[in-house]
Parts: sequence; structure tokens; C-alpha cells
Amino acid sequence: MRYTDLSHIYKSLLFAVFLFLAPFSAISYASSPLKIVVTTSVLKDTLQNIVGPEAEIISLMGPGVDPHAYKATLKNMRDLNNADIIFYHGLHLEGKMADVLTEMSRSKPVYAVSNAIDPSQYIGDCKATAAIDPHIWFDIQLWKQVVRYISTQIQSIHPAEATKYQTHTTAYLEVLETLHQEITALIQTIPQHQRILITAHDAFSYFGRAYDIQVKSLQGISTVEECGLRDITNLVDYIVYHKIKAIFPENSVPMQALKAVVEGCKHKGHTVILGPPELYSDALGEAGTLEATYAGMVLSNVNNIVNALR
Ligand SMILES: [Zn+2]
Repeated sequence: MRYTDLSHIYKSLLFAVFLFLAPFSAISYASSPLKIVVTTSVLKDTLQNIVGPEAEIISLMGPGVDPHAYKATLKNMRDLNNADIIFYHGLHLEGKMADVLTEMSRSKPVYAVSNAIDPSQYIGDCKATAAIDPHIWFDIQLWKQVVRYISTQIQSIHPAEATKYQTHTTAYLEVLETLHQEITALIQTIPQHQRILITAHDAFSYFGRAYDIQVKSLQGISTVEECGLRDITNLVDYIVYHKIKAIFPENSVPMQALKAVVEGCKHKGHTVILGPPELYSDALGEAGTLEATYAGMVLSNVNNIVNALR
């Protein structure tokens, strides 16, 4: 009897505390700027275009950082703990941060933006998540779906600014559609038989499918597994056979193995150029450069590809 009484009092107290806290939690998002945390610079720029240039968005990884191998630092943990909402790519792009992100999702909204895409659009083996290619941002039509998805989540958590976010989103989707058409036309200027893109790791399969260019790489869809001598030899034979003029280093992947490919081709009497400038794959460029934005990075890649292969 006594226990029941106490339990009743305890429940009443909890309810009172809930009533006291509820109004604060409901207005907290509307009354202060949203604290948005994302994993990569690609996501940061995308979010910035949705919420506006004045909003502060924290990216755990800076320019040029490889997300496949990245582990959260103590500062990252503090930022994640303070966040109102968190966005990451998913599909194992942030392969070493899965536990941290799962932990965060217990106390706050955490979204994998790859969920915006219908699995029928994924490249890779859909029976195993680790075998699905996570580099969806290189198909701009797919990335537009991600933009809409992020915008919906942001608007639902911060309805007071929903109209503003929707206006930004509509404008940004138009920018991306123009970019998509520009890229489609640029890639078409490379003769069909020369349209072969060779890179350090397999980040460009969605790009290849969307813009009709064959892709090949030394490493798989993650940089975590290193390539072997056989991979290098096979690639050398392929390049020599197809008389490929250029292969491309990436800003977030070391280029030693590609240098070995260039040497291998030289031994077989074929000159292949490494570069010109590196492609931007899993991270944007430094602030102040064209490649510091998602749209700029995609356009820079395409211009470099077209100039080298045409
Ligand atoms: Zn990658």
C-alpha cells in the first residue's frame, strides 16, 4: 500500500516535471539558431544552401579528409553532443563512425541522407550494406533527392523558418538542375571511345552511370582496403590496350599506387598522364577555391576530365 502511494507521488512528480519542461523543449529550436552538425564538407555545403549562408553548420571532417577511414575526435564528440540535428551520408561512407552515430540517434534526430534514395537506384550489392556504393553525390539527380530530403527534415524540426528553407531549397534545386545539364553536355564532347575515367578509388560509378562515361579504379568503393600488385598490373594492361591518355588522382586519397601505374605503362611503351589537377571525390577543396562548394567541385572535376580525355 505504501509502495503504491509512493509510486503515485513519483508519477505525479514526473508529470509535473514534464509539464514544466515541455514548453521549453518546444520553443528551444525556434528561439535559438539550429545547431546542425554534419560529417563531411559535401554535406556542409548542401545544408548551407538549404538553411542560408548565415547559419553556422559544423562539419566533423574538413576539406580533403577521407571519410572512409575517419574516426571521431574528442572535439567531434563535443560537437555531436551539442547538436540539435545531425546528418551523415550512410551506406558505410563513414565506416568507422557507425557506433558513434548510432549512440547519438538515441537522444536526437540523426539522419542518413542516403535514405532519400530508392534502393533500386543504388549501385552495388544491395544484400550487403557494406557492398553498396555510397558515392551518390556524383549523380546530381540523386543528390537533388537528398536536398529535398534534408530540407523536409530541417523544416519539420524548425517549422518557424520553414518558408525560408523551402525558398532556398527551390532556388538551389534549380542551380543543380542547370549544373546537371551543363555536365551532360560537357561529357558528350569527349569522343565515345575515349570516355574512360580511371581514378584511385571507386568514387565515380554513379557519375559514370549518370553521364555516360565508363569508370575504372584501383581500389574498391572504400579506401580502407589497399590495392595489390595484381590490381596495378591489370590496370596497366587495360590502359595500354585502350591507349588511355590520362588517369586521375583524388584529393582525399594518397597517389603512390597511381604513380606505380604510370611507371608500369611507361615500361610497356605507353605514356599516360597522372592528373592534371586531382579530382575532388569524397571531400571539397579549401575555402576560397572553386572546389570549396559542391557545385564548384563537380564542375571543376568535369572540366579537368574533359580537358584531359578529349
Ligand atoms: Zn570514397
